[in-house]
Amino acid sequence: MRKVLITGAAGFIGSHLCDKFLDNNSKVVGIDNFITGDWNNISHLEENKNFQFIEKDVTESFELSGKFDLVLHFACPASPVDYLKHPIETLKVDSLGTFHLLEIAKESNSRFILASTSEIYGDPIVHPQKEEYWGNVNSVGIRSVYDEAKRFSEACTMAFYREYELDVRIPRIFNTYGPRMQLDDGRVVPNFISQALANEDITIYGEGSQTRSFCYIDDLIEGIFNLSIINGLNGVVMNLGSQEEYRILDFADVIIEKLDSKSKKKFLPLPEDDPKQRCPDINKAQRLIGWTTKTSLDEGLKNTIDYFKNIN
Ligand code: NAD
Ligand code: UDP
Repeated sequence: MRKVLITGAAGFIGSHLCDKFLDNNSKVVGIDNFITGDWNNISHLEENKNFQFIEKDVTESFELSGKFDLVLHFACPASPVDYLKHPIETLKVDSLGTFHLLEIAKESNSRFILASTSEIYGDPIVHPQKEEYWGNVNSVGIRSVYDEAKRFSEACTMAFYREYELDVRIPRIFNTYGPRMQLDDGRVVPNFISQALANEDITIYGEGSQTRSFCYIDDLIEGIFNLSIINGLNGVVMNLGSQEEYRILDFADVIIEKLDSKSKKKFLPLPEDDPKQRCPDINKAQRLIGWTTKTSLDEGLKNTIDYFKNIN
């Protein structure tokens, strides 16, 4: 059986990764300090013999017994509301934390997967974003605690690849949604769904002309899994995300209509440095791991809405 270490295991994506690897011939050690995670995301794994959970802050130095075949570093607050609430912790987990996990991977000679993000492209001038694009990031802006930390994490990861020939892969994840997101994490999908469910005003930041594309969690997990297990992809950087791009204003209409809600739109100021457009070029993922999204927005939203209704 493959032995896998997953940081951020109690988070939205990390908990789904734990499930995916446990379902596919793996023993999983999950680490989390619950800064934005939730035990409920992994409580169903408590009795699983192949799952071990360690409560730990990965920015503090630590040692683990045993060797790993695969290390996936997914610990990091991901919602803008969360990382702006925890700016220093965010910088630390994607600097000190990344170093610690790279050292653990090096000692085990394991494959290393870094959860990177479309945010490394900043407010992109090139559209859609290809992996070759270097981005447009404000290094002293409020979002830099996240963008620049992720860029630094990518640099660390590539240095370990070049210096120690560590087998590393970097998925750049675009906006992903689905069950186990926190209803109050401030991201657009949970905000709009919770507002529409309560018939409250839908909060549009700016004029709502900014665009995002939304990838369903199961599709993303399939992509990360493929990128993690296929041989011969050392040093590969890869966009993973949906190519169905929506203006936020139109996305609000989709949610209102889907929930048959009486909510009205309320316009609030656009947060500083909020990217105006975002959509991945996923040709590389299609070519190297045979990946594309499969779940329609309709189906993905249905599952997400059902989940939010049930936890209420
Ligand atoms: P999340 O906030 O739900 O999960 C992050 C998890 O990491 C949480 O459980 C949190 O408690 C844990 N964590 C944070 N700092 C830690 C520390 N120092 N030590 C131990 N655990 C710590 O976020 P998510 O949406 O699941 O994102 C997971 C990863 O994917 C992040 O690295 C994020 O940057 C990346 N990502 C997510 C998206 C997205 O759309 N969800 C997009 C791009 C990139
Ligand atoms: N947004 C919005 N209303 C909300 C929450 C978010 O208009 O209640 C906008 C936000 O300004 C951004 C987009 O929706 O342009 C996506 O925001 P999110 O926080 O989900 O993720 P981001 O892509 O900014 O990291």
